[in-house]
Amino acid sequence: MRETFLSFSPPMLGDQEVDEVVDTLRSDWITTGPKVKRFEEEFASYIGAPATLAVSSCTAALHVGLAAAGIGPGDSVISTPMTFCSSIHVIEQVGATPILVDVEPDTLNIDPSRIAEALEKNARSVGSGSGNGRVRALVPVHLYGHACDMDAILGIAREHGLAVIQDAAHALPSMYNGRLIGSESQGAGPSSAPILAAYSFYATKNMTTAEGGMLVGSREAIDEARVWSLHGMSHDAYKRYGAEGSWYYEVIRPGFKYNMTDIQAAIGLHQLGRLPWFQARRREVVRRYNEAFARLDALQIPVERPDVQSAWHLYVIRLNLEMLRIDRGRFIEELKLRNIGTSVHFIPIHLHPYYRDKYGYKPEDFPVAFREYRRIISLPLFPRMTDQDVDDVIEAVSDVARTFRR
Ligand SMILES: *Cc1c(COP(=O)(O)O)cnc(C)c1O
Repeated sequence: MRETFLSFSPPMLGDQEVDEVVDTLRSDWITTGPKVKRFEEEFASYIGAPATLAVSSCTAALHVGLAAAGIGPGDSVISTPMTFCSSIHVIEQVGATPILVDVEPDTLNIDPSRIAEALEKNARSVGSGSGNGRVRALVPVHLYGHACDMDAILGIAREHGLAVIQDAAHALPSMYNGRLIGSESQGAGPSSAPILAAYSFYATKNMTTAEGGMLVGSREAIDEARVWSLHGMSHDAYKRYGAEGSWYYEVIRPGFKYNMTDIQAAIGLHQLGRLPWFQARRREVVRRYNEAFARLDALQIPVERPDVQSAWHLYVIRLNLEMLRIDRGRFIEELKLRNIGTSVHFIPIHLHPYYRDKYGYKPEDFPVAFREYRRIISLPLFPRMTDQDVDDVIEAVSDVARTFRR
């Protein structure tokens, strides 16, 4: 058994990040300046997106994305219960109403057929003047890094004139039909229903800036989001105080304070450069996990559909509970006793007291999300895992699965 505890997902930073941060600290720009601009440009070209906005978190990116799409009081937004709370909080924060729909059993991503059902129900209730406001946007989440069924989702959005604000916190980089998630708005003309994607650079994500996020989309939508991200001012600080700028600004929205600093961008520039290597290592670990765990009938390994290349942000096994004498909580405790750190992604939104009580949700309202929630465990997956670390996880998981096999 392992001697020391294996953390679930530590970051991987090198000398280049350290030197770039020091360089920033010694310069005249520590907050939003030239490095943020360079990070935005390099990220845009990496994704193949027309425009990008670096902000303080993915949560901030989702919030300004909704604001830029004009979503507010009286509107409804369709999303998923299988996500982190902030994907849904931002809908509440702009004054709109979240409508949750259940997920697909294989990917645990939002089920497009349920979106279509919810839209029909919404149209009937809006028509009769009762219930929620009209649905104006979708917030799909590419859970664990596996792209949602985007052909279906974008088709529905187009048909109903809906904005799409993708929670791409796990999806750097995810491919759908040979294209990167986030590149959808390329070539799309000006539109009142933008297609946006929001990325996270939180410490545990596929690349990090400690805290940080990026919104990508059309030039028009990103310009509007930029105004929302910095006090609703018509120019950002760099332009105002830079050599070519002026002191004059106008406040045109009641905006937020969500700008990224050059200290964060300094880290991000080098993390983005390392991303291809990070991803190759993630895929290698996943390949070895899949090979080992496919042999254990008490476990179900994650899917990767043929039209998708997952970003493999998380490796989530599912317990076949009827074959085990222990539940998920005990399985996690047994792994901890074997020095393996794990987590659960996520406790479904409708089980949290705030949403449960406000909307009167019952656990069975989203039967797939509720059933699968009780079977999921996220295993350690990070680029600097050694082969020995991977072997240790495989050994511990196999031992627990065999020891407690019914
Ligand atoms: C991490 C995460 C977020 C929030 O990202 P922050 O950068 O911490 O705001 C949002 N959605 C999902 C699915 C996440 O995993």
